[in-house]
Amino acid sequence: MRQLIAGNWKMNGLRAEALALASALRQSADGLGCDILVCPPATVLGAVADTLQGSAILVGGQDCHAAPKGAHTGDISPEMLRDAGARWVIVGHSERRQAYAESNAMVRDKAEAAMLAGLLPIICVGETEQQRLAGAAETVVAAQVDGSVPAGFTGVIAYEPIWAIGTGRVAEDDDIVTMHRCIRDQLVGTLGESGQGVRVLYGGSVKPAGASTLLVLPGVGGALVGGASLNAEDFLTIARSAA
Ligand code: PEP
Repeated sequence: MRQLIAGNWKMNGLRAEALALASALRQSADGLGCDILVCPPATVLGAVADTLQGSAILVGGQDCHAAPKGAHTGDISPEMLRDAGARWVIVGHSERRQAYAESNAMVRDKAEAAMLAGLLPIICVGETEQQRLAGAAETVVAAQVDGSVPAGFTGVIAYEPIWAIGTGRVAEDDDIVTMHRCIRDQLVGTLGESGQGVRVLYGGSVKPAGASTLLVLPGVGGALVGGASLNAEDFLTIARSAA
């Protein structure tokens, strides 16, 4: 299965910067041996999708509402993301689970709504540092997978230890392998045999320097990249490291 290298631009990028980044990626993205996805802010998603049209680079949203439309001021439906050119959407990022108290059930509803609208969801899971120190990482993450993944799931999972996001700290190789195995086991427990085919990405301070070591670890189906996805050369170097 091809690895997926996904960039989460978060709340970064005015129109000129976003389009410059998309153009730089477009120029060098041909012939990569992996799938490559960018998730820009919603305000520039349509313009980025237009810039990348006809290229190998996929476009996604960073979140969506679970309803197709209605009285939800400030929210964006999966249909709207698709209409703007997205084919993927991140749901349940830890920044949203924490800042907006998004529960597993809410994340599952968003993922289900995304699939209904023809989008592929990336469901994020991951433990806090306290949970890891307490020896609860596997239990916490397995419960997140079980509670957040809808029946008939067609997307991917991103394992992102919260303490590794934006901190420059990357999980130990052994821990990454253990957590990916735990997630695979839970996917099979939740979805049955189809859980074997779900890609599981690693995310948390992935940089060009460590990417080639990370991406050959057993069970790692790609990477979700935050900070380093804002620099075209860094992001492409990570993509070129894909196994
Ligand atoms: C993220 O927020 O999904 C992420 C992985 O960020 P960073 O790469 O900056 O740690």
